[in-house]
Amino acid sequence: MIYLDNAATTPPFESSLRAAWPWLTGEFGNPSSTHELGLRAKDALEAARTSVAHSLLCRPPEITFTSGATESNNLAIKGIALANPRGRHIVSAKTEHSSVLESIEFLVRHHDFTVTWLDVDREGRLSTDELRAAVTESTTLVALMWINNESGVIHDIAEIALICSQAGVPLHCDAVQAVGQVDVDLNDYRVTSLAISGHKIGAPKGSGVLFVRSGTPFESVMNGGGQESGMRSGTENVAWAVAIADALELQRKRGPRAERIGDLGRQTTAFIDAVLENVPRARLVGPRPGAANSNYMRNDRSPAIASFVFEGLNGETILLELERRGIICSSGSACSAGSTEPSHVLTAMGYDPDLARTAVRFSFANEFEGQPKTASTEAFDQDRVVEALIEITTKFGVAD
Ligand code: PMP
Repeated sequence: MIYLDNAATTPPFESSLRAAWPWLTGEFGNPSSTHELGLRAKDALEAARTSVAHSLLCRPPEITFTSGATESNNLAIKGIALANPRGRHIVSAKTEHSSVLESIEFLVRHHDFTVTWLDVDREGRLSTDELRAAVTESTTLVALMWINNESGVIHDIAEIALICSQAGVPLHCDAVQAVGQVDVDLNDYRVTSLAISGHKIGAPKGSGVLFVRSGTPFESVMNGGGQESGMRSGTENVAWAVAIADALELQRKRGPRAERIGDLGRQTTAFIDAVLENVPRARLVGPRPGAANSNYMRNDRSPAIASFVFEGLNGETILLELERRGIICSSGSACSAGSTEPSHVLTAMGYDPDLARTAVRFSFANEFEGQPKTASTEAFDQDRVVEALIEITTKFGVAD
């Protein structure tokens, strides 16, 4: 099987699971307990927190362990918006993940917030001028993702963070697809809060991190025993905290992005070129790498995601036919799989709903030298994937 659905989830890395194993077995103490077993669990949890802070270049108390990015997005958006006395206005974009869109809609429904949804252009890019214009005296929060999970477009988070800090408005950033593709350096990028998911970076499903910058007013919506400094009550999942810390450390040890991203970027560019040149009706979603306005080093497209639409074809048919040939990918985002609705990201980019329904996403992972994955998958074979696409589009395409 050639697995090209890494934006949905990555196979866990052995080292991450090995690091977690003791905390799932003999070391089963509750970190809140004051006996020996509990204290050891507490130490492991705090060591994991320090390690995550080291990887993201922030301070340990700024790290909260969660069950994943859906939870991190919910906690941050509701927690910051409800605590911020500025007003009840939120700015976000139409292309955000459903966990961001729905958290904001919840605030609109139950807490009288209003929201300005920013548009994107045909390539999926945001206008920072529109963001500047949208932020008002009563804006409580801006929520914008770093890399879009369907188009792979990278938003200019440095510029967005600058605009927000000049306006004195907190910025929440969903960085799920960014870890591993950009250097998530929280010293440099002045976001207020940031969400990370473990299962997209080689840690198990159900692991996540929420960063909240020190001093940010925060009203937790997860109430109870006051664990995680009151940010997220509930007995901590020590094993998964250890596992996500290990996965982030692996990313950090691979060095700065510019040095390591080259190979993945080259591979994805070659794949995009080959598909566009050889596969009838294939059109790339988002900016084309190498086109005048787009290259990986200018940070406007993830080297890990390549989505295409295939006019006149059926996206589900392409997926099934690829799977029959041992190639696994997805139609837009996995979170909305099974629904026949066109992707909200593609329709926000101006795609006709019928064309949006034909979208197929291929997503790649950085390989970690010497780090075995738990699932055995075949190496990417560009010719095999392109030939399969040619065969499928020729067989199932509607004649002109
Ligand atoms: N945000 C983005 C951009 C995502 O791609 C995903 C996963 N599809 C999430 C949030 C949710 O992450 P999790 O599965 O950890 O809840």
